[in-house]
Order: sequence, then structure tokens, then C-alpha cells
Amino acid sequence: SDPQKVEGINRAAEAQIDAVIEAVRARRTGNMMRHRVPLFASCAYHAIGLPRMQQTSKFAVDADRCIGCGLCAKRCPMAAIEMRDGLPVWTKPECAACLRCLHCCPKFAISHGKRTASHGQYRHPKPGVRM
Ligand code: SF4
Ligand code: SF4
Repeated sequence: SDPQKVEGINRAAEAQIDAVIEAVRARRTGNMMRHRVPLFASCAYHAIGLPRMQQTSKFAVDADRCIGCGLCAKRCPMAAIEMRDGLPVWTKPECAACLRCLHCCPKFAISHGKRTASHGQYRHPKPGVRM
């Protein structure tokens, strides 16, 4: 993915987070979210899109790239991955769809659906920050 684009997104997010922190400290109440997606689209995503995303059958691993480090399994918050014969296997039918496994892989060996290659892998801009 484009590092400058990622930097811009992170900068905007930091500013929003700072504003929310300030509001919480000042004990202000109200909706802190900026809704960029129409409500009907958000509802449709949660009814149809998200359950699809959560199917672990959509994950695949490139055995030629995978070095068997086990990071994907270790970092999965749902314990949905087991290492078998040096390769990750998704052992639960559904997961949180956080995509941490895909983005923490040092070899970008995990894909989810057909568009992973074009979407790319997220790398935190600050060196040393663990995914
Ligand atoms: S997407 Fe998240 S919850 Fe699902 S298998 Fe990967 S790390 Fe685990
Ligand atoms: S993190 Fe990547 S390289 Fe490591 S075991 Fe998982 S798929 Fe293989």
C-alpha cells in the first residue's frame, strides 16, 4: 500500500483520537463519531458483509512464502489458528476478521479472498511497533 496514504490516514486518526481524549477528559457527552458511511450501508455491511468476512474459509496461505514462524497463530486474538506441519491452519469456522494474522506475517504469505495482493499489507509507520 501507498506509505504516504497510510501516513495521511494515521495522521487524521491521531487528530480524531486527540479530540476524543480531550472530550472524555472534559467529561463532555455526545456522539464523538464522524459518520462517513450512510446508516443503511453500515447496516447492510453488518448484516451481510461482516458475516462473510468472518468466515475463516476465506483465508489461504502461500506455502512457498511461509517460513513457519507461527506469528499468525500466536497473535490471533481468537485462537483460531494452529500450526500444523509448519503451516497455519484456521481451526475455527469463524473469527473476529481483524486481519491481524494477514498483516503481521513477515512474509505476506496469508491472503483473505481474492484481493489481498492489490490491497497490500499494512505496516505501522513507527519502527518497532508490533502488529
Ligand atoms: S483475522 Fe484476526 S481473529 Fe481472524 S484468524 Fe486472523 S488474527 Fe485471528
Ligand atoms: S506469520 Fe506468515 S510466515 Fe509466519 S507462520 Fe504465519 S503465514 Fe507463515
